Amino acid sequence: MTGITQKLNYLYRCLLASGQKKSCPYCGSNQFDLVQRKYLITTLLKCKHCKLQHRHPKDNDAFLEDFYQEDYEVDVEMMTDMPDSVTLAKLKEQNFPDLRDFSPIIKAALPGRKDIRLVDYGCSWGYNIYKLQQEGIAASGYELSRPRAAYGRNNLAVAIADQEQDIPSGNDVFFSSHVIEHLPHIDKFIEFCKSRLNPDGLFMAFCPNGSKEYRKRDEYTYTVTWGSLHPNYLDVEFAQYLFRNNPYLILTSDWPYNLEEIGSWDGKSQVVSPDRGGYELLIIAKPNILIPKT
Ligand SMILES: [Zn+2]
Repeated sequence: MTGITQKLNYLYRCLLASGQKKSCPYCGSNQFDLVQRKYLITTLLKCKHCKLQHRHPKDNDAFLEDFYQEDYEVDVEMMTDMPDSVTLAKLKEQNFPDLRDFSPIIKAALPGRKDIRLVDYGCSWGYNIYKLQQEGIAASGYELSRPRAAYGRNNLAVAIADQEQDIPSGNDVFFSSHVIEHLPHIDKFIEFCKSRLNPDGLFMAFCPNGSKEYRKRDEYTYTVTWGSLHPNYLDVEFAQYLFRNNPYLILTSDWPYNLEEIGSWDGKSQVVSPDRGGYELLIIAKPNILIPKT
């Protein structure tokens, strides 16, 4: 499907859903602030209760299941583009040189930890899993798209589940990169993550930074980032709400990240980096550890 057809389809389905009742997809509240409006019929709303910024109208679950199986063709960092065997052999030999290496961030967040077990949720065909394995991290993955999961299993020999229930438990890190902004049910995602993490395991999610400080810095990028593919636009305030009862480190950054800042987090307290204007939002939390209320 071409980009223009996709956009027209998106606007058409928003038009059909324009009478949809407004409710926060995370907490169900019906009180919002209007953050931005696009194409007359789509709005970015910020929930007054939990602070989740989300697009109105929302998509229904049946549409999303079909969409991510069949129509999702965005060629960003090879996310959905599966290479031929010659190209893949070269990429493996060079260890995917154009992809970001997340291993220093993961190791900084778990100082001194050996034998890190990680699941990459929404791993596409597993290129990050392969790359993390080269750095000594025992990584496996989950991918909703069955063709991509199968491609990774067959061509990279990495473990990729295409059903959530097949994701192994006992992980030290529940990792996701540019996934949470796509999800219709963040509450279920976090509950599921807890079931697959060790008691002191880390939730680690990278996503676009929807904070107002980033909007001030780059209004254009801010505006184009939410919409059809990204119904959620998380910011620091929502991340704080999401893990209000747990230890967390929330920061925004351009690439590369400040490893000292990540390494200096004690894993027990709630820390927000003072700079909220970075390109990306990184949420690190321990969802299975509750902070006693004072
Ligand atoms: Zn809410």
